[in-house]
Amino acid sequence: MLTIKDLHASVEDKEILKGINLEVKPGEVHAIMGPNGSGKSTLSSVIAGKEEYEMTDGLIALEGEDISELAPEERAHKGIFLSFQYPVEIPGVSVTNFMKTAINESRKAKGLEEMPANEMLKLIREKSELLEIDRKFLSRSLNEGFSGGEKKRNEIFQMAMLEPKLAILDETDSGLDIDALRIVANGVNKLRSKDNAVIVITHYQRLLDYIVPDFVHVLYNGKIVKSGGKELAYELEEKGYDWVKAQN
Ligand code: ADP
Ligand code: MG
Ligand code: MG
Repeated sequence: MLTIKDLHASVEDKEILKGINLEVKPGEVHAIMGPNGSGKSTLSSVIAGKEEYEMTDGLIALEGEDISELAPEERAHKGIFLSFQYPVEIPGVSVTNFMKTAINESRKAKGLEEMPANEMLKLIREKSELLEIDRKFLSRSLNEGFSGGEKKRNEIFQMAMLEPKLAILDETDSGLDIDALRIVANGVNKLRSKDNAVIVITHYQRLLDYIVPDFVHVLYNGKIVKSGGKELAYELEEKGYDWVKAQN
C-alpha cells in the first residue's frame, strides 16, 4: 500500500525528517508515536504532499506508484486521506453539501461523471447509519460551533464517504476528550478492512486502547528509532520517552 524509503524532508531549509523507512500493507494499522517535535506531523504532511514541506531525498510510493511529485489534491484523489487538524468553518454550507461537492470533485478528477443524486443519498444514508450520525447533524453548517467531538465526527464521516486507501490520522498533541476519542476510534474500527490501511499518529498511548495497532513505531529526531507490536505502546506509556532519547 504505502512504501517510504530513506525519506528526508525539510521545512524552511531545516532538515526535520532524516531517513524514514516504512512499509504499510493493506489491512494494517500502524501507530506512530514519539516526543513532541520529533517530526510526526511533518511526516504526515509530507505523505499528504503539503507544499511547505520539501522532500529532499527518498521515495514515497502508493501501491507501487511514486507519488512524491504529485500535488496534495492528486494524492487525495489516489486515495490518501489526511485528517484535518484545523477544520475550516463554512457557514451556510451543510455537512452533507460539503461532502457532495468533495465526492464530485474527486470523481471529476478521475474523469467520472457526477454521482447520481439517488446514489449519493444512498451512500450518505449508509455511511451515516454505520457511524450513528443523525440527520440533524448532517444539515448543520460545516464546523460552525462544532464541539471537539462533533469536529471529529465530521472528519470520520468524510473519511467514511471518501473511502480512502490510506487514512492518516494526526491527532496532534492537543488532547482529545474521551468522547472525541471514542468517536474517532469507533469510526476507524468500523472502517477498517483488508483493503485499506490506517496510520494513527499520536503522542499518547490512550487512543491505542481503542484503535489497536498492528505495529507501533517510535519517531525521534526525524528517524524511526524503534518498531514493535502493540505492546511497545504500553512500554512507552510506562517508561516515557526518555529511554528512547537516551539510546539515540
Ligand atoms: P511533532 O508532530 O512530532 O510534534 P512536528 O513535525 O510538528 O513534530 O515538528 C518537528 C519539527 O519541525 C519542530 O522542530 C517544528 O518546529 C518544525 N516544524 C514543523 N512544521 C514547521 C513549519 N511549518 N515551519 C517551521 N518549522 C516547522
Ligand atoms: Mg507537536
Ligand atoms: Mg504533531
